Amino acid sequence: MSDPMYVLAPEYRRLRIGDAWRDAAGGATFAVEDPATGKTIAEVADADVVDGLAALDAASTAMAEWAATPPRKRSELLTATYRALTERSEEVARLITLEMGKTLAEARGEVAYGAEFFRWFAEEAVRVEGRYNTAPAGGYRILTVPKPVGPCVFVTPWNFPLAMGARKIAPALAAGCTTITKPAAQTPLTMLFLARIMEEVGVPPGVVNVVTTKRAGEVVSALLADRRTRKLSFTGSTEVGRVLLRQAADNVLRTSMELGGNAALIVCADADLDVAVDGAMVAKMRNLGESCIAANRIYVEEPVHEEFTARFAERMGALSVGHGLDDGVDVGALIDEASVTKIDELVADAVDRGARVLVGGERPHGPGHFYPPTVLVDVPEDARMLEAEIFGPVAPIMSFTSDDEVMAKANDTEYGLVGYVFTRDLQRALRFTEGLQTGMLGINRGLISDPSAPFGGVKQSGIGKEGSHEGILEYLDVTYAAIDLP
Ligand code: NAP
Repeated sequence: MSDPMYVLAPEYRRLRIGDAWRDAAGGATFAVEDPATGKTIAEVADADVVDGLAALDAASTAMAEWAATPPRKRSELLTATYRALTERSEEVARLITLEMGKTLAEARGEVAYGAEFFRWFAEEAVRVEGRYNTAPAGGYRILTVPKPVGPCVFVTPWNFPLAMGARKIAPALAAGCTTITKPAAQTPLTMLFLARIMEEVGVPPGVVNVVTTKRAGEVVSALLADRRTRKLSFTGSTEVGRVLLRQAADNVLRTSMELGGNAALIVCADADLDVAVDGAMVAKMRNLGESCIAANRIYVEEPVHEEFTARFAERMGALSVGHGLDDGVDVGALIDEASVTKIDELVADAVDRGARVLVGGERPHGPGHFYPPTVLVDVPEDARMLEAEIFGPVAPIMSFTSDDEVMAKANDTEYGLVGYVFTRDLQRALRFTEGLQTGMLGINRGLISDPSAPFGGVKQSGIGKEGSHEGILEYLDVTYAAIDLP
């Protein structure tokens, strides 16, 4: 059951560089584990700097021809990728569950979401436009010509092994850029599978390169220092994002940075509580809480605090935990032991400072990296979990009495990715929309991710947008020509 072999044959557990699937130059490999059992499920090539630069050679060589490929042709290849991913959804979902730990239902959702970026950007590829207009003072014309930025380097996290790469590769290819993706070392298999699918549908060699490595620092910094690289898109922690921004500065690279979050979810007394509880469950528990847009802090207005908390805690307590491939499991395994330990420490810290555990709160014994759905109340403001990204199935609930008070608390963080507000009062919703310092907002909804909407944060949650029309602009430069015409 836990053998991914039939999904991704050994010859594709290697580096995808140009037209080849090949071993790392030094012959090294590293192990990929199933987080639910701790067992090795595959060995993949462990690239070093030489391999990284070989991928950049391939991406640079392919660049001119890919940029000159008719947009309709590029669009058709993206559509073919969308179709292949959709047809092979079960295989991809299985691979995601095996290497990342989420349930099969969650993994199927990720495949649908990830595939949709290819469909969306297939449609965008043929709508890249410049403009032509008369200069306001007359005498000449202004022509703008969009052009692909050039070879792109992508660094992606483990929490959505397909979707975080898909939302970079799809717009880049639509714009005419070539790519090198370095997936997270814990979840490289899904990205290799995507590269295999893209090879099968006919994406030309060198356009999609994938370099798996345990030496992210060395390999990525060599790529960012090379003048042929023209763009970095990174999804991951703010901490690593800062390091990569510094490196990108030396080469003055275009950057898109999708970083960490600390979302506040606000339930007003006038909210429809059925909607609020459903929304909070999605915002907290999608991807078992291992999501940058997970609700990290739940604030409930005093008059409904007790009722909301009781209903939410009941729902959290009813979830079953287990191997993501097993039937009837709601919550799979966390990515690794360090993650379980971090979450356990955050809960212990909150309890030491006076928080009460309503549900969960104790890590189970036995193999695999599990933590139960947990609800805490009376969480004091100095608890570390209100500042840190919990990145797991733990929900601290606090009460509030005024909108100004909760807005100030929600904004009191270096992050600014997303917020959630539940209210039936339109003016209140609009005041939160204007006042919350976030790039995104869910209003009476816990699910906001959509390939046709601009995803991205403000403050230290990042720079730039993924998805939507804005998503393709991240991969286009604009040349302006002044044309004399008296
Ligand atoms: P991470 O530790 O920052 O790692 C992300 C990627 O960066 C991995 O591929 C990692 O490689 C690589 N990396 C680590 N150190 C590096 C270095 N010095 N130079 C170059 N690359 C380096 O983040 P994570 O733990 O995988 O993912 C969780 C984080 O991602 C959370 O903070 C979450 O909020 C954020 N996230 C943000 C979004 C968004 O859209 N805003 C979406 C999803 C996740 P290795 O795997 O080899 O370490």
